[in-house]
Amino acid sequence: MILAQRAAEAERQIVQSSFEQEARSRILLVEELIQGQLRELDAMRRFITLESELTRHEFETLTRLSDRIEMTVSWTENVPASQMALYRERMAYYYHHQFRLRLPESVEDLSSGDIRRHFPITYQKTNVPGANLVGMDVSYLPSRVHAFEQAMTTGKAVMIGGIRTLDDPDDESGIVVFAPVFNEGTVKDVTDRHYGNLRGFIGLGLRLSALAQWVSSAHSDSPDIALGFDEFASNSPAVTLDHSEDHHHDPGLTFSRDINLADGSVLIRAEPTDPAQWQPRQTALLVVITGLGATLLCAGYLAMALLGRARAEANVTRRTQELQQALQALSESEARWQFALDGSGDGVWDWRMPENEVYFSEGWKTMLGYTPDEIGQTLSEWSGRVHPEDLGPCQKALDAHFKGLTDYYESMHRLRCKDGTYKWILDRGKVIEWHGPDRPARMIGTHSDISHVKQTELELREANAYLSGIFASAEDVAIIVARPDGRIALFNRGAEHLLGYSAAEVVGRMTPLAFHDPGEVAAWGERLTQYTGKPLAGFRVFQVGIEEGMHRSERWTFVRKDGERRKVQLTLSKIFDESGQDLGYLGVAIDMTEYLRAMEALEQNDHLLQDLTTNVPGVIYQYLSRPDGTASFPYVSDGIWDVFEITAEEAHQDATNALRRIHMDDAATVQASIDRSRTNLVPWICEFRVVLPQHGIRWLRGESTPRRAEDGSTYWHGYISDITQMKTLEFQLREQATMDPLTGAFNRRHLETHWQREMARFRRQGLAFAMIMLDIDHFKRVNDSHGHNVGDEVLVRLGRLLRHEVRSTDVVYRLGGEEFLILCEDTDLGGARRLAELLRDQLRQHPMPFPDRVTASFGVVEVELDEPMPEAFKRLDELLYLAKANGRDQVVSAPLEPVL
Ligand code: GH3
Ligand code: MG
Ligand code: MG
Repeated sequence: MILAQRAAEAERQIVQSSFEQEARSRILLVEELIQGQLRELDAMRRFITLESELTRHEFETLTRLSDRIEMTVSWTENVPASQMALYRERMAYYYHHQFRLRLPESVEDLSSGDIRRHFPITYQKTNVPGANLVGMDVSYLPSRVHAFEQAMTTGKAVMIGGIRTLDDPDDESGIVVFAPVFNEGTVKDVTDRHYGNLRGFIGLGLRLSALAQWVSSAHSDSPDIALGFDEFASNSPAVTLDHSEDHHHDPGLTFSRDINLADGSVLIRAEPTDPAQWQPRQTALLVVITGLGATLLCAGYLAMALLGRARAEANVTRRTQELQQALQALSESEARWQFALDGSGDGVWDWRMPENEVYFSEGWKTMLGYTPDEIGQTLSEWSGRVHPEDLGPCQKALDAHFKGLTDYYESMHRLRCKDGTYKWILDRGKVIEWHGPDRPARMIGTHSDISHVKQTELELREANAYLSGIFASAEDVAIIVARPDGRIALFNRGAEHLLGYSAAEVVGRMTPLAFHDPGEVAAWGERLTQYTGKPLAGFRVFQVGIEEGMHRSERWTFVRKDGERRKVQLTLSKIFDESGQDLGYLGVAIDMTEYLRAMEALEQNDHLLQDLTTNVPGVIYQYLSRPDGTASFPYVSDGIWDVFEITAEEAHQDATNALRRIHMDDAATVQASIDRSRTNLVPWICEFRVVLPQHGIRWLRGESTPRRAEDGSTYWHGYISDITQMKTLEFQLREQATMDPLTGAFNRRHLETHWQREMARFRRQGLAFAMIMLDIDHFKRVNDSHGHNVGDEVLVRLGRLLRHEVRSTDVVYRLGGEEFLILCEDTDLGGARRLAELLRDQLRQHPMPFPDRVTASFGVVEVELDEPMPEAFKRLDELLYLAKANGRDQVVSAPLEPVL
């Protein structure tokens, strides 16, 4: 979840940053184009100032229109009413009598005022089809005149924005910039700026919407961004543009920037044309969900980082190229070169080596924030301002050019401005005079301010820094990027760690084949060859099958620099830049060696467990009871069948498959014991019966230890075994357990066996046996007067006495209550009678827990051959009754008493 969230956040940032990059680069383009045109305008202005009269031919040859957008450049002359006749005459000449003064369409007639000064559009150069303003007298447009006045008094260009265009009345994005042109040398200070010294205005008109359209078409390869222009800010009161139009703003993706336009500025706002094109990609998210997790997330980041960087580099290269192309174009004609460069706002320098003298143009000086007289004429004015880090490369470039190695000298370096800040400068130049080979005499060059380009580049770098950081710092994941030809382009720390090579050793020098097991690559190559029907070997093996946007993940063997072999999971994918150009291959590898080893060990453990469990009677199991009340056996050994007569599969599915085998009478007890064990986390020990389809009722014994899992589930690990045999034995034993716990005498059950054994012996060997039955006299009274416990004690003492006094072959039985019986083996009536008398006498003297004596009455019989046991007992009962009736504390033996 956390990974997925991070990924989504990162995606969002990537989209935001790439949108900003894109927007910034487009706005930059707009700005550059406008600034370029303004520089052209300024160049024209200077030229006109120098010429005493601007001919139509001069205007048309010097005016350059952009081939990128529709625009109009015009020359509007300042003609006092008194000079109008002369002016018309001149125009008749230039236009071969085709020139006609016109009123602007919105002006009905000329009577709207006494016009003392006319502003006819004298020359015009345009690439707008059908646009012809020549001859239009702007002096009838008060707002225009107002702007003219502003331009004249400030001496600076003035912008008028929000102009509707003829072909699209809804389009208010038209702007016009007018630059005032004065007679040469007439303006010394503010007060000289008046109509008397004014030649006219050079004007530039274009539509910002057309600019936006052009920028969009220049970027047709990337998702479209709409540029909006609003919030014109101008010093000119003539500019009133009400842009209350409600734009739909996506709070997520907008980017805006002010660009300067003559005396004002325009806020350019960029937003996506189709926000869907700027949705964060879901790839990383999906990847996290579908597997390989962190690995592919990193891969995703990397791909993004690469794309971002590629884009940044492409942008910078493009900007630089455009600047260079512009400069190249300017150098086409020498005169034009001189003129245009001087007026272009760039700095021009002219270095005469023998004199060691450098001419720095005014533009050069103002570019760095100096006034013309603050800069001297030595080379150190430049070299002393070059950033120390950049001086070396500059010198190298110069030397290369002096040696004839390059056609042009070119370098990009930082120059210190007057305020101490540095500007990025594109410096280009050429030696134009030689005093012999290797002896340059004069060199001319230009300095262009490319700070904004560099700034963009730096911003982009920063935006991508965190992505690169992720890439570099991923230690556990090897990230390797190979160019389309296989040469390695990127090799991160994780890769160094995994493979033992340093990035420096492999980047640009090796292909991934260097560390792939050659056997594996060959084997895969063969398989692919069979599959595709084309012979495949070497790096081609990796390329095949990696289709656009697809990644494949395989197990490979890497051979480290030190020869060690590592098993890796390698995910390969192809990377493209935004224009679909093939950037190469991205490989992300995780070391699986340890994991595979662990798996192997685990497998061996499994075998061991299997061996153990199959040889253990019963089932070894893991029982899982979940919080929702369901339960299962995640693990059972093969013994599950013997114990429950269910399969392991059935046990895995649901524990009730086993539990329903439990005997009805035991089910509640088992459930209660499980509950107790779960609640108190005490071992579960339970004996219970199951009813099995094949083996019927069986006794089982289970023993296990519970453990609580984090989710509230409880796991028991233990075993259940079949104890049926043991239970049977136990029952038999219990049945045979004949000892009376209180008196130590045997109980009745044993008597029966004993009787039969003795009767059998009697039958076989003729050995008679006798029985004595005795009952304590008035025992109730003992209980009544001394309590039941004392009564028990009397019984204990009597039991001990009896056992002590009888022979080893005589066995004492407790018949119940205070009634005892003695079976005397191999004994006739006389012997038994003597024993009874002895016992009666002993009892009378036996110490008791109270002063009174305890006596008993005795009945004695000799058992007859084959006499049924109840018969003998009946006789005994009768004799005992006689003894009681006769006064107690006496022995009565059957044959004698009735006679007496
Ligand atoms: P008799 O002389 O007629 O035998 O009088 P008796 O009080 O002994 O009467 P009888 O044999 O009918 O009653 C047996 C009494 O013995 C009943 C019961 O209170 C008492 N008794 C039976 N078994 C136990 C025993 O295990 N412990 C104790 N303390 N008393 C017992
Ligand atoms: Mg009794
Ligand atoms: Mg009694």
